[in-house]
Amino acid sequence: MKTYNFSAGPSMLPKEVLEEVQRDLFDFEGTGMSVTEISHRNKAFEAVMREGEALLRELLSIPDDYAVLFVQGGASTQFAAVPLNLMHRGRADYVVTGNFAKKAFEEGKRYLDAQCVASSADRTYTYIPENIPFRDGTDYVHICANNTIFGTRYPSFPETEAPLVADMSSDLLSRKIDVSRFGVIYAGAQKNLAPAGVTVVIARRDLIARPHDLCPTMLRWKVQDENGSLYNTPPCFSVYVATLVLRWLKRLGGVGEMEKRNERKAKMLYERIDRSPLFFNGVEKAYRSIMNVPFTTRDAALDELFVKGAAERGLVSLKGHRLVGGMRASIYNAMPEEGVRALIGYMDEFEKEHSV
Ligand SMILES: *Cc1c(COP(=O)(O)O)cnc(C)c1O
Repeated sequence: MKTYNFSAGPSMLPKEVLEEVQRDLFDFEGTGMSVTEISHRNKAFEAVMREGEALLRELLSIPDDYAVLFVQGGASTQFAAVPLNLMHRGRADYVVTGNFAKKAFEEGKRYLDAQCVASSADRTYTYIPENIPFRDGTDYVHICANNTIFGTRYPSFPETEAPLVADMSSDLLSRKIDVSRFGVIYAGAQKNLAPAGVTVVIARRDLIARPHDLCPTMLRWKVQDENGSLYNTPPCFSVYVATLVLRWLKRLGGVGEMEKRNERKAKMLYERIDRSPLFFNGVEKAYRSIMNVPFTTRDAALDELFVKGAAERGLVSLKGHRLVGGMRASIYNAMPEEGVRALIGYMDEFEKEHSV
């Protein structure tokens, strides 16, 4: 039986990439050593890391005046790195559209006058606020581009006077973006790019030139930039797999092609949910994520039965986040269309059996 992994993260990686990893595991680039045991100063490793950076730059058309960094600590560490690198006036605006956006906001409050200028908590994060009253004279505006738990995304990004900082942990490389609209983009890799361990930071260099005095060396984007993300030992294995995933993405036709595929997969799944008398997704249509699709029968026992039956058919990790309940299908880049079709097939079956 084929297994399709719908986990929100760490999540599915392309099968071709895993096969390549397996093939290379004992002998990385003819070194006779495994990638898990070579020095990060090894020429072959450095070449792979630089290739990963170059591929990210190419695939996202990242302008030359942006640093592209591979750091550690996950996206959650960046919640602190953002204020510590960017604060000068000591004020920042946050848009709270879900759990991670809220955590970033709470972390920001430790360091500066962070204000939540808009939130969708009033309707359990089922939409993205618009016409947001940003303050003047702030160091940055922080948003979460795709809300992994609640299944919403920004259909377009707000115009801001202050640099826009976006957590793109669960949608980087899933759709085309104009990087020049952002001051900083960061993303934990384990959703759409690589195994856990590496976090990508894309930051406009002029903004990161003067980190706060108390910013730890390891969190200084400027230091990471000056050292080619080799200030200390990077998560070599994750960086290596990220490079393989980026090669795979380029072979498939790049981010534009991936976006088309992702839109197609998401459309199939939402259409199935919307015409169902049993399944339900409460997110406002304009803001629905194409990466994370939460749904429910609105009956906890039935939801549990669905998740259990799905697992028996190789459709695994469909249990919703504990904050939301129900089910959640994460359909990142590596989820093939057949996986979504298999899920829909099981929904057909389950619905016949359980509809009144
Ligand atoms: C998963 C996730 C995080 C947390 O990432 P870690 O790497 O585990 O710290 C933050 N933001 C978003 C949008 C996420 O999906």
